Amino acid sequence: MRSYDVIVVGLGTAGSAACMTLARRGVSVLGVDMFRPPHTMGSHHGRSRSVRRAYLEGSVYLPMARRAWDLWRRLETDSGERLLVTTGNLTIGPPDGPALTGFLASARTGGIPHECLSAAQIRKRWPPLAPSDDLAGGLEKEAGIVFPETCIRVFLRMAEASGATLHTDERVAGWTIEGEAIKVHTSLGSYSAGRVLIAAGARSGRLLGDTGAMLSPKRVPVHWIEPPDAAGYALGTFPVNFWQVPTEGTDDPHAPHREFYALPAIGPGGRVKAAFHNGLADGDPHHPAPPASAGEVAAIRRTLARFLPPLSGQPITSDTCMYTLTPDHHFLMGAIPGNDNVFAVALAGHGFKFAPVLGEILADLVQGRSPAVDVSFFSPRRPGKPSFDNRQTTAQGTQ
Ligand SMILES: Cc1cc2nc3c(=O)[nH]c(=O)nc-3n(C[C@H](O)[C@H](O)[C@H](O)COP(=O)(O)OP(=O)(O)OC[C@H]3O[C@@H](n4cnc5c(N)ncnc54)[C@H](O)[C@@H]3O)c2cc1C
Repeated sequence: MRSYDVIVVGLGTAGSAACMTLARRGVSVLGVDMFRPPHTMGSHHGRSRSVRRAYLEGSVYLPMARRAWDLWRRLETDSGERLLVTTGNLTIGPPDGPALTGFLASARTGGIPHECLSAAQIRKRWPPLAPSDDLAGGLEKEAGIVFPETCIRVFLRMAEASGATLHTDERVAGWTIEGEAIKVHTSLGSYSAGRVLIAAGARSGRLLGDTGAMLSPKRVPVHWIEPPDAAGYALGTFPVNFWQVPTEGTDDPHAPHREFYALPAIGPGGRVKAAFHNGLADGDPHHPAPPASAGEVAAIRRTLARFLPPLSGQPITSDTCMYTLTPDHHFLMGAIPGNDNVFAVALAGHGFKFAPVLGEILADLVQGRSPAVDVSFFSPRRPGKPSFDNRQTTAQGTQ
């Protein structure tokens, strides 16, 4: 049986970055994926992922966000590929709502250049956006998007070039402990390693025992809208816009908010991408996701009609993607309870932007080193009941 220092299960976002870092450090690493990443059966497809440093999800992410930005730029130099394009990132919501207050707190704590904008200023600057006067915005100008499929190709190419062994079209069925080693069983055989990282995204649950019960796969309908004029929605002009708006039909400022976003169109003939970020239905990662329903398309159309009106009557196509949520919507990274040699990672629907720094952190964890940033907050062993932070959810389709 072939033996490695580390086996990484899943070569998507986290797994490909971890393999690259481990291989660059001279660790003998086997990466196994049931498909051929990048692909459309997980959480990393869809042409664009937003990258920002002000992090409304919590200041605990700030050091990782900074480091990731630098690493994306370094990776561009190393690979000769264009990975990150700036286009700005605009958070829109009630001035006292969790998204905007979280954005501002993070930008101020991190000393990240930003602008505060009224609804009127937003409407003037980006005519497609139509926030009502009770909303406001926070702009991080030096933010943008990365191209996820290219990024994963780069991670895998560099991993292989640095000596990683990569197996695709090979499904991991499970693992067992054999003395000091861990045996990983796949559709094609078994391999042995000292440490194993389970980076199987939405399918990680079955491979993680009790820790898997913390994970909640969600199906995310993603809508692609033909812009009425290419220039106003183009990458570099149109910002990533993330909205947290009161749920329709309530005046209660403490009622749950609906969250959705729109991302710029990429390239000639490109479409604007829009999706809801909360209120998502459970997904079954082991079976093909049902396509977006007429009701789901109608829900995004209603939201566009209210907040991005020029897009509402435009042609739409839709597909689906997966989030792997945790109870508190924060990442999960570290050794699982009861086994110091098996590590989990789950990215709660907002992890792509951190991929290169996650590669470093996960490599550190499996190598028994202390990561440069404190990630104890994300440990699967973290004490206490996970809190819900400021992320509230509502039922799908109410907006
Ligand atoms: C619609 C959408 C929009 C998003 N937008 C953003 C954004 O703008 N910014 C951002 O930062 N993040 C965003 N995210 C989140 C981000 O894309 C995910 O957090 C990230 O891609 C998850 O990475 P992963 O490595 O956990 O999963 P994946 O990238 O899906 O990788 C998991 C891999 O494991 C493999 N695998 C699974 N089971 C097995 C098995 N048994 N054996 C072998 N291999 C297996 C899969 O084939 C897959 O390749 C978005 C996600 C979605 C769905």
